[in-house]
Amino acid sequence: MMEVRNIQKRFGKQEVLKGINMEVAKGEVVTLLGPSGSGKTTFLRCLNFLERADEGSIVLGETETIVNKANAKEILAHQRQTAMVFQNFALFQNKTARENIVMPLLLTKNKTKQEAYELADVLLEQVGLSERQDFYPSQLSGGQQQRIGIARALALNPKVILFDEPTSALDPELVGQTLTLLRDIAETGATMVLVTHEMKFAYEVSDKIIFMENGQVVEQGTPKEVFEQTKEERTKAFLTRFT
Ligand code: ATP
Repeated sequence: MMEVRNIQKRFGKQEVLKGINMEVAKGEVVTLLGPSGSGKTTFLRCLNFLERADEGSIVLGETETIVNKANAKEILAHQRQTAMVFQNFALFQNKTARENIVMPLLLTKNKTKQEAYELADVLLEQVGLSERQDFYPSQLSGGQQQRIGIARALALNPKVILFDEPTSALDPELVGQTLTLLRDIAETGATMVLVTHEMKFAYEVSDKIIFMENGQVVEQGTPKEVFEQTKEERTKAFLTRFT
């Protein structure tokens, strides 16, 4: 479904990603773990061209995009297939919950207004927010805002959904319900790549864990392999701190 080859990224002199490879099969949940500053968010942003990597390529379905050669049209085509859910929700503040879901559908999916609103209503129901559809983001809790962010990503029906620490800005009591929603989405067979510090969730939901440090993949495998049969000292040190 998705194959990422040799992604490299520098910010000035700092080499933030030093050649990352990753394969994600259809329906798989792949979780990126690693200490702060290891490059997880940058990697995720490179996967949908919010940052442009310096080197490497991304194969999505049948299409390979060479990151440093892609033109605007190729980037847009790629972005339509890779929706992103952000740590800080990134909702349009002057749009209601429902409009936040509808807008990208009208802009990128060539849906009619009626189709877009119908789909938005189905998704609002799925994330349990039908009753709040006309609320603005500032009138919703963090957990509710994130559920709108998730509904907006699902609406695009992307090949892969990228989640960047989707619960880390939430109050502790709201984390659980958002993780439950993510778990439900995973169970529908969605293909997901996520960055999270929720170790128990990562262990239970992921098909594959990738442990990154200092812009490199240190270790990867099933949750059992990475958590219980850890090979690398650096992974062990990280996991002892977090679990
Ligand atoms: P965290 O878990 O704290 O979110 P992370 O593993 O996601 O960390 P990144 O946010 O990808 O790490 O950052 C990796 C490195 O790249 C850091 O040293 C950071 O300061 C640097 N960096 C990230 N974005 C930029 C930018 N736009 N300009 C310059 N440096 C950046």
